[in-house]
Amino acid sequence: KPERKKKPDWLRVKLPVGENYAKVRKLVDQHKLHTICESGNCPNMGECWGEGTATFMILGNVCTRSCTFCAVATGRPPEYDEEEPKRVAEAIKLMGVKHAVLTSVNRDELKDRGAEIWYQTVVETKKASPETTIETLIPDVKGNWDALYRMIEAGQEVVSHNMETVEELYRRVRPQAKYYRSLEQIKLTYEAGKRTKSGIMLGLGETDDQVYKAMDDLVEHGLHILTLGQYLQPTKRHIEVAEFVHPDKFDHFREEGLKRGLKYVESGPLVRSSYHAERHVNVPI
Ligand code: SF4
Ligand code: SF4
Repeated sequence: KPERKKKPDWLRVKLPVGENYAKVRKLVDQHKLHTICESGNCPNMGECWGEGTATFMILGNVCTRSCTFCAVATGRPPEYDEEEPKRVAEAIKLMGVKHAVLTSVNRDELKDRGAEIWYQTVVETKKASPETTIETLIPDVKGNWDALYRMIEAGQEVVSHNMETVEELYRRVRPQAKYYRSLEQIKLTYEAGKRTKSGIMLGLGETDDQVYKAMDDLVEHGLHILTLGQYLQPTKRHIEVAEFVHPDKFDHFREEGLKRGLKYVESGPLVRSSYHAERHVNVPI
């Protein structure tokens, strides 16, 4: 069995400490909320939570899907909680979050894919904190476009949907998703007049040409903002890291993305789709 690759220096991160970190920790626990920061073992928790930002995961913490990179538990989720939108809104208000990122698990078993809870969460957050801007990182609605339109019509500033990887790796990485269906979802979001954003993880074994092709496809489907970050294996049971991509390479991909017509590219080993998300609100579209 091959040994696990050793993490290079550029992936070392600060430990989570400080007053703000403790405050976020307390509010998340008190409001019985889930964050993708924790569920996804994000390496940026020290930085983001220290600055008072977190990415809330709504519709529970059990997902109907089993993407091979993802640390969120797979299974049959319990009923959703109709009070969740209010609790999320309250926590965001108490945290004084200027820019909130919301995401969710996939709820393929729900007829509306969770769209109503999505809608209510954005509405409640805007009601409680009118100055707060919002990014919604929405799941694959599996072609249920009514659900998509409900999810994106609550006045959020950015709508993201992560491609996660290149077309060639979909089966291995996102077995229940389809590359062209996700592109279509982005295109419809764009056509609805929204600021669109997506993310791709590098280091899963993709080639440069496959990354360029994904960029071109995204531009063609109306994507404005792209994030590129290093995939890190959350546990040994998850898909292995094929490569630790050098920071210079990330810079190269940023340039390439801009050249190919993206409006903004956030690219670096520690970039996650919600990293520096506040910068994406003002990207002209
Ligand atoms: Fe959370 Fe995103 Fe920051 Fe990671 S980058 S800690 S997921 S807000
Ligand atoms: Fe994780 Fe999202 Fe895939 Fe569910 S759909 S397993 S939460 S990446």
